[in-house]
Amino acid sequence: MFNSAVSIVNRLRGVQLTAARGLSRLLGATLFPPRCCLCGFAGTPPDLDLCQICHADLPWDYAQLPSLLTAMRFEPPADDLIRQLKYAGAIENARVLGELLAQAVRARGDLLPRLLVPVPLHDSRLGERGFNQAAAIARYAGRSLGIPQAWHAVRRVRDTPSQTGLGIDERHSNVRGAFVVAGGRAMKRLREAGHVAVIDDVTTTGSTLAEMKCVLLAAGISRVDLWAVARAPRHHAR
Ligand SMILES: [Zn+2]
Repeated sequence: MFNSAVSIVNRLRGVQLTAARGLSRLLGATLFPPRCCLCGFAGTPPDLDLCQICHADLPWDYAQLPSLLTAMRFEPPADDLIRQLKYAGAIENARVLGELLAQAVRARGDLLPRLLVPVPLHDSRLGERGFNQAAAIARYAGRSLGIPQAWHAVRRVRDTPSQTGLGIDERHSNVRGAFVVAGGRAMKRLREAGHVAVIDDVTTTGSTLAEMKCVLLAAGISRVDLWAVARAPRHHAR
């Protein structure tokens, strides 16, 4: 009963997807027809860059913690797609990763948030990489789910060292105080949304996502969901 009510609310919100955004999605799918990013065969319409065989073979991870949603385990080929996006500039991978995250969200069937907030990069890291991979993924996940993203709403004020190689306690203290809401307009937009989802590419201990959640709850946002494309085991090197 509750689930069907949630799905009706989600569907009604989906109708709010503007005609312009629907048209831009259709145009994108027409100009860049989906192609499997793993084997090169035709992808799955309207815009999933995977064939049905490669899609079925992904390391799915739908066994969820209530507080955290992840689509896949950080294993081949998902780990390669994410590494290529982050370290080799394969920005085109954001489309398939965003769509896979959207599928995991739809499969879970929870009430959808009203705004997506990608984990921000520090300006110096953003300068090096040229783009924020979490924002790129959020853009496509949001387009698929009909949810806008606010990629300037939270700023990373400390350039934290890489979490790789740190234990769980070190990871928590490494990110503490790293994020702030980016001023009055951002605060207003977040509060008006009321229910947001934070998006990251990979999570290991969940420290970064948990810190983002703390900052947003402290800012008065009533509900903060945590979504990541992939979940890495704790001993895993990214
Ligand atoms: Zn394929």
